[in-house]
Amino acid sequence: MSDVFSPDIDNIKEKGLFRELRPVSPAPAGRVLIAGKEYVNFSSNDYLGLASHPQVKKAAALAAEKYGAGGTSSRLLGGTFEVHALLESALASLKRQEAALVYPSGFQANIGIISSVVSDGDCVIMDSFNHASLWDGAKLSGARIFIYAHRDLNSLEKVLARAKDYRRKLIVTDSLFSMDGDIAPLRGIAELAASHGALTMIDEAHSTGVFGVSGSGLAEELGVEKKIDIVMGTLSKALGAQGGFVCGSKKLIEYLVNKSRSFIYSTALSPVTAAAALKAVELIGTEPARRKKLLENAASLRKTFAARGFDISGSESQIIPVVMGSVEKTAALSEKLFMAGMLAPAIRPPTVPEEKCRIRISLTSEHSLEDINKMAAVIA
Ligand SMILES: *Cc1c(COP(=O)(O)O)cnc(C)c1O
Repeated sequence: MSDVFSPDIDNIKEKGLFRELRPVSPAPAGRVLIAGKEYVNFSSNDYLGLASHPQVKKAAALAAEKYGAGGTSSRLLGGTFEVHALLESALASLKRQEAALVYPSGFQANIGIISSVVSDGDCVIMDSFNHASLWDGAKLSGARIFIYAHRDLNSLEKVLARAKDYRRKLIVTDSLFSMDGDIAPLRGIAELAASHGALTMIDEAHSTGVFGVSGSGLAEELGVEKKIDIVMGTLSKALGAQGGFVCGSKKLIEYLVNKSRSFIYSTALSPVTAAAALKAVELIGTEPARRKKLLENAASLRKTFAARGFDISGSESQIIPVVMGSVEKTAALSEKLFMAGMLAPAIRPPTVPEEKCRIRISLTSEHSLEDINKMAAVIA
């Protein structure tokens, strides 16, 4: 058989954009082991260190004993265990919504939500920096896709005027943007949605467990919990487990259970990860010191970077990019950090545009100020 893939792979390599998987094993205090050597891990989304929290691990182990390893069938056919129901009820309370539904991953949640909520004859209105899974959901839906300039309410208002004749209009945005660490103007978006008869959906993948007085997310922090129709999040970042979820009205959840193909035609989330996530949601409530430490770490690093005049792309969170420009410069800095014992991968096209290549620093509550200052010194 002729090798049909080599030309494309060679092309990726020529551009310096070839990516490879690098096995790591987790180590305490925000570190990983790679080939036996320890690195401070600035690439983890385990923002609160809950993936290796003793109580989370214990909940997972007990669930494996009780339920076995897998979901065994789809949720509608016998894969709904007690732990799924408990988790959904805990998530609905965390987000102060009527009901919740979990999916096997956040990516699956996004494609399954958007593609069932809108279809041909409707439109979906997207922030230009939205996450890949939101774009794929929008494309899959068959709805007309409109794009507004990143975090720009004037641009959104213009798009809404152009979209006025569509049957159903869905505005979709990350609440905390995954590559820039900046925050969507949720209050303004909710107001425009209300005045133009549009539905709103936010992706709280990076803000759940991190922002808000109770750790609910940015909708709580910005006081718009009652104004967002569809609140999506993931169990795989600050909650330290795996899986995605959506919260909203009881009717929304009933609708998704009946219409959302990536929910219906996929095996239930493993009861082991569901139990881990359930414990993690509980810890969000009982261990607020974790998010406080995380936000202190983040504020400290942003201040250091700002003082040095770095382009951190408007970051207001624990995700702090250092925008370098070229692929080569970014790769060289990532390599330099690696040599100094720190893992901070280069983010390159197609994830970001060529001229916006960056090191994406992702902080956790497990990092010490010493770790953070050392990293900042290498970058400087
Ligand atoms: C990670 C991420 C997802 C996907 O969640 P997974 O559970 O990892 O599949 C969705 N949206 C955003 C903004 C993300 O960063």
